[in-house]
Amino acid sequence: MNVIVCMKQVPDTSEVRIDPETNTIVREGVPSIINPFDENAIEAAVQLVEEHGGKVTVITMGPPQAEQALREALAMGADEAILLSDRALAASDTLATSYVLSCAIRRIGDYDLILCGKQAFDGDTAQVPPGIAEQLGLPQITYVIGLEVVGDKVRARRLLEGRYEVVEARMPAVLTADKHMNEPRRPGLKSVLAAKKKEIPVWDAAGCDIQVSSCGLEGSPTRVIRTFAPSHEHEGEMIEGDPRDAACQLVEKLAAAKLV
Ligand SMILES: Cc1cc2nc3c(=O)[nH]c(=O)nc-3n(C[C@H](O)[C@H](O)[C@H](O)COP(=O)(O)OP(=O)(O)OC[C@H]3O[C@@H](n4cnc5c(N)ncnc54)[C@H](O)[C@@H]3O)c2cc1C
Repeated sequence: MNVIVCMKQVPDTSEVRIDPETNTIVREGVPSIINPFDENAIEAAVQLVEEHGGKVTVITMGPPQAEQALREALAMGADEAILLSDRALAASDTLATSYVLSCAIRRIGDYDLILCGKQAFDGDTAQVPPGIAEQLGLPQITYVIGLEVVGDKVRARRLLEGRYEVVEARMPAVLTADKHMNEPRRPGLKSVLAAKKKEIPVWDAAGCDIQVSSCGLEGSPTRVIRTFAPSHEHEGEMIEGDPRDAACQLVEKLAAAKLV
């Protein structure tokens, strides 16, 4: 069972700041961590390989300092790590990022599952894993809270609002991990020291047959026109009083507005 984990290094803050001039995320001066959902993906991958054998390969597309996050993933039990780093890839949007990662995954080859986090804490779009599945023509299961391998299929529990559903897909498949999937392990000193000694290859665009015209700022179709925090003030009114009367009043108002 060979599992590839796509992992992103994100700023260690829930207060992501946007540069008002460039409309990009401010990363300077903010310490970085492994995207928390990606830790769940790594944990799930390591557990699968502990049970079925095989190897876990972690890949990230990012600047050279993303190597630190890869070492943390190695300390958690990943067998190999790859840094995909090239100036031509900088400023890629979600479509371009999915394309770039899928090219690198093709180069890795021989995999049964691709695990991702359900979304990144900074970009927050949850678009990259479905993009990878589309690029590679693979089935996908999102918001996974549990999984088991049954023959050549993966059976996963998907978290929905207030319930979950069980979905089966043939492998290889792309899965995205929810935080309820597991408790990521905290590696001991021995694992951390061993991870420091591991070789981490750096792949560039040319080495992965990536068309640079399809990535980076120029190759990204998304244009951020404006960013703003949505207002928390809601327009509307409270209908007070007896619930039965309130319900009748609500229906009358909705009917007057031609909504029912
Ligand atoms: C014009 C433009 C310019 C941008 N420039 C940059 C930039 O310079 N630097 C930057 O970091 N972002 C940049 N972004 C944001 C960029 O779109 C996202 O960071 C990136 O594509 C991932 O999207 P996301 O963060 O929403 O990830 P999501 O789709 O929410 O991530 C879900 C999962 O996908 C996987 N994943 C996502 N990104 C990566 C990755 N890079 N490597 C491995 N796995 C990954 C992880 O498993 C993650 O948990 C830019 C966006 C736009 C529109």
